[in-house]
Amino acid sequence: MEDHLHRRDHTGVQDFVLLEDYRNPDAFLENLKKRFHEDLIYTYIGPVLVSVNPYHELDIYNPEIIHSYKNVNFYELPPHVFAIADASYRSMRGENRDQCILISGESGAGKTEASKKVLLYIAASSTHSSDVERVKDRLLESNPLLEAFGNAKTTRNDNSSRFGKYMDIQFDYKGAPVGGHILNYLLEKSRVVHQAPGERNFHAFYQLLNGASPITLKQLSLTAEPDAYFYLNQGESSSLQTMDDQANWRAVQHSLDVLDFSQQQQKLLGCQEDKLLLALQNKTIEANNEKLRSPLTVDQALFEQFCINYCNEKLQQLFIELTLKSEQEEYQREGIQWEPVEYFNNKIICDLIEAKPIGIMSVLDEECLRPGDTTDATFLSKLGETIGKHPHFISHSVADNATRKTIARDEFRMLHYAGDVTYNIKGFLDKNNDLLFRDLKEAMVETTNAITSQCFTKAELISKKRPETAATQFKTSLAQLMDILMSKEPSYVRCIKPNDYKRAGQFDEKIVLHQVKYLGLMENLRVRRAGFAYRRPYEVFLKRYKSLCPATWPSYRGHPKDGVQALVSHLKYGEDDYRLGKTKIFIRFPRVLFATEDAFQR
Ligand code: ATP
Ligand code: MG
Repeated sequence: MEDHLHRRDHTGVQDFVLLEDYRNPDAFLENLKKRFHEDLIYTYIGPVLVSVNPYHELDIYNPEIIHSYKNVNFYELPPHVFAIADASYRSMRGENRDQCILISGESGAGKTEASKKVLLYIAASSTHSSDVERVKDRLLESNPLLEAFGNAKTTRNDNSSRFGKYMDIQFDYKGAPVGGHILNYLLEKSRVVHQAPGERNFHAFYQLLNGASPITLKQLSLTAEPDAYFYLNQGESSSLQTMDDQANWRAVQHSLDVLDFSQQQQKLLGCQEDKLLLALQNKTIEANNEKLRSPLTVDQALFEQFCINYCNEKLQQLFIELTLKSEQEEYQREGIQWEPVEYFNNKIICDLIEAKPIGIMSVLDEECLRPGDTTDATFLSKLGETIGKHPHFISHSVADNATRKTIARDEFRMLHYAGDVTYNIKGFLDKNNDLLFRDLKEAMVETTNAITSQCFTKAELISKKRPETAATQFKTSLAQLMDILMSKEPSYVRCIKPNDYKRAGQFDEKIVLHQVKYLGLMENLRVRRAGFAYRRPYEVFLKRYKSLCPATWPSYRGHPKDGVQALVSHLKYGEDDYRLGKTKIFIRFPRVLFATEDAFQR
């Protein structure tokens, strides 16, 4: 069998663990670049898949290729997102463990495309029956729908997801998908009323205007002219070459049908238009029981960036927790010698944001709840008093003389793991207090649409209890997500954007290096190389390879560890090729495993 991993021709190495100079970012970049120019967009770091957006269609997702990845050992075929999907699917079926696939990377890096490929693979691999087909259809059809309402053109990506997504698929014991959930996080609501130059509102609006029949539009008192609407034309780029709004309108209609939305439910909120309009354009400020109406400013509709960065910080923490830390801990637990690897743990930054009672969110909540004249400015000075000494926080009042020149009085700066970000505090308090403006809720409660009215209940509206602040709600939902992810066996797809121009064939080293750094890939590789590429519990390893040794075939009566020892001695493993831990065998190099797997296949 061809040993793909050891191929060192012009395509570089398929797994970064085989990179000679694995500590050197230039060598890392060089390997990625060589492969990118050959349209080899996937490379492993052990079990982690690194993917570089090719920005053009590649013929590597067709049914034959899907088929070739089915039930094939991870390292035997070129790296592919299908291999990740397959390994994860098989591990679920074979070892009965819940799996999750975490796809990360910056805007335009290819996360959404990667997730669609995973779905495609799962739909193609699992068994067929009419029930299962229905579930698969629904899973696949959820995408056009979510994208219509959650994606928009930005300057960085013509189809940018403006929300975080967690999709959950349940399988039965035969491995057939039987249901699923989709949880969405942090939809960028401000986009509904404001778009930056060169950007659009959510696709759905343009799809409706370009795709719906004249009769429908007339019923809705709309015209087929997106440019005529202030909420759609601010970016001055309402039509898009890469986006066929009419065709997508039809696709969304189809999705709605597959997902069993009735004609009546399809997309009309069914609420009193004038009330909704009023609510959207104004917000009621409740002050001393007097109601004042003030126009909603654009500034108040912005400010999600802090939460998005917090979310990224948490996901990075999860990655570190799960791969780097657990890697080291596993060796310790298994009683295997190994050199500790130094790495930067961003827990300190997560704590800065979320710790109680002294973290940015707690201080913010406290300022929101404290009676008296609290303002964004008092919030900032509180931050200075409480966390001013934190190494990852800088504000005007605590900065040294040189730094002070770079930071305004109404700003604070956080040293995130991915780089420094300066936040303006304007609107922090308001944003944290107003969850969904009360007026909007009032309009929604009276809606005649069944779905909308399920989402907004009158009880919630009249309840005297103070609603949780936005920060607390977000923190809670993020913590729940982390718990879900922690309880599963993770796989990772790390997506990289090769340039800022959505252009094929262009590999901008500076931009890629930045992403390699903040995705923590060098660190990930160092840990991987310091250790062992492959590990499996003795039982699992023995069960698979017992036929290769007379002493273990057809079954081994003693302790599985002794069985594995007999097996690897018989296979003439070198002394340094493997270690036997308390419950698992660790194999240093993939090639050793290949040889064994080869022998097994023969
Ligand atoms: P965002 O965070 O903005 O949602 P994203 O990471 O989800 O970004 P995608 O929408 O997946 O980015 O990718 C952006 C575009 O890049 C796609 O619309 C497609 O044109 C191209 N692209 C991404 N991955 C691939 C791929 N594997 N093959 C071909 N083109 C791709
Ligand atoms: Mg996306």
